[in-house]
Amino acid sequence: MSARVVMLGAPGAGKGTQAKRIAELHGIPHISTGDIFRAHLERGTDLGQQVKPFLDAGHLVPDDLVCRIVVHRVREADCVNGYVLDGFPRSLPQAQALQRELNVEGAVLDVAINLAVPDDELVERLAARRSCPKCGRIYNLRFEPPRRNGYCDFEGEEDVALVQRPDDQESTVRERLVVYHRTTEPLLAFYRDTGLLRQVSGSGKSPEEVSAQIEEIFCALGVN
Ligand code: ADP
Repeated sequence: MSARVVMLGAPGAGKGTQAKRIAELHGIPHISTGDIFRAHLERGTDLGQQVKPFLDAGHLVPDDLVCRIVVHRVREADCVNGYVLDGFPRSLPQAQALQRELNVEGAVLDVAINLAVPDDELVERLAARRSCPKCGRIYNLRFEPPRRNGYCDFEGEEDVALVQRPDDQESTVRERLVVYHRTTEPLLAFYRDTGLLRQVSGSGKSPEEVSAQIEEIFCALGVN
């Protein structure tokens, strides 16, 4: 069995958390374009330099650049049985590029899951989002706080202070939401028209409850 999954949703909807769970439960790679870019930024690569102004402004990285990276990634050996894409596609040209790649491979997408969360809640969540710079674990100071204020729970003896993503500052968050509604939300219609869209409410529920709902969808589709 294979599972090719697209996670859709606004910034802060919980795509990353759910995509990681899906990847673990189904033994497929989690491909997050945001994580790929942040890793390049940290290592100071040419690609990192190229994408930095877009990330800092809360704007999308140009389609051709993102598409090249994703196409290259999904052709790697660990993707033969599928993958969960998190943060891609984010525009119609990106969705079309993914479709072309699937056609080339003779593969199909199984499902596009949209995590729906109202804007006000997204702004609130993103302002309180922190992550561990070492293990990448994500916390929310209000909804999923670490046991010890400001420090990662999983670094043993070492005190690793949690950090805020620069693009989670409120002005950038607002811009990311504008970009989401203008450029990414239209993808819902694209996947609805192809019958692949499934809606999951990501609001007012624990990550476990959202995950259980996603697993029900997979079960109904016969994806495992
Ligand atoms: P979020 O979903 O919380 O906005 P991500 O970690 O997925 O965050 O992405 C962070 C940033 O990386 C985006 O604001 C954008 O600048 C860039 N990015 C990620 N994925 C894409 C994509 N598919 N197309 C264009 N830009 C992207």
